[in-house]
Amino acid sequence: MTRPETIHTCDEIRRAVMAARSSGKRVGLVPTMGALHEGHLSLVRAARQDCDLTVATIFVNPAQFGPQEDFAKYPRTLESDLDQLATLDVDLVFAPSNEEMYPESFSTYVEPPKVGERLEGECRSGHFRGVATVVLKLFNVVPANVAFFGQKDYQQTLVIRRMTTDLNLAIEIVVCPIVREDDGLALSSRNVYLDKQQRLQALALSRGLALANDLVEAGERNAAVIRQRVVAVLNDAGINRIDYVAVADPETLDEASRIDPPMVVLIAAHVGETRLIDNRRIG
Ligand code: AMP
Repeated sequence: MTRPETIHTCDEIRRAVMAARSSGKRVGLVPTMGALHEGHLSLVRAARQDCDLTVATIFVNPAQFGPQEDFAKYPRTLESDLDQLATLDVDLVFAPSNEEMYPESFSTYVEPPKVGERLEGECRSGHFRGVATVVLKLFNVVPANVAFFGQKDYQQTLVIRRMTTDLNLAIEIVVCPIVREDDGLALSSRNVYLDKQQRLQALALSRGLALANDLVEAGERNAAVIRQRVVAVLNDAGINRIDYVAVADPETLDEASRIDPPMVVLIAAHVGETRLIDNRRIG
């Protein structure tokens, strides 16, 4: 099992990807912040299936963290990430330094689209500006045919799709399903912050989403009722710091009082000090 070649500079990764493209290869890009788990690996597998050359990027993007957020303590596990990527035969890994991506003179940012204004956009001011900026940079530095993202970050996928369309970016976007533990917990690099008791509490997120699904399937169309029932599931598990439970249109994230599936339910809540997000498309 050989580790994939790891490249640290923009010039070098761009040259390698351009060479592959000019020899007719289809290139897939999987952007990550590392601390890899099965969720990330599912994106890599999708890329491997669809493409001739797969590039995974590992970069904990400082621009998408707020000043009070967990940038400093975000798990960084490059060695074991490379081992995991080796098992999947990833061709190239791009792992730039902060200085490589944001040299001292850096001052240009992407203004994120409207769909990024609410929910995560409201709770994490500047988050999508940082995400859109780094993703656009990665698209330029790794000029792939297709990029793979997880539905786990639902609103992020809408922001990236919209940016790709609005800025005429020559890349396809593929969104892959959420990978969960057997008990329903959505995999996340932040799950390592949870102790045993908090991990049990965290199951309330997927349980709440399952209840929302059941309610809609049983004919419930009142968004406030669905929202309240999901909030009650969280509260019953001792989760009281809820950033949002949104029952929304799956494309615009607009909320209406009466729902008309398809729709999406999105949750952001704090379990102890850890902020978790999850979502489920319904109908
Ligand atoms: P991150 O490293 O958290 O920035 O995530 C990198 C990519 O992996 C993003 O496109 C995420 O949506 C995706 N991802 C994270 N967790 C999961 C999961 N449980 N299932 C599927 N994709 C995921």
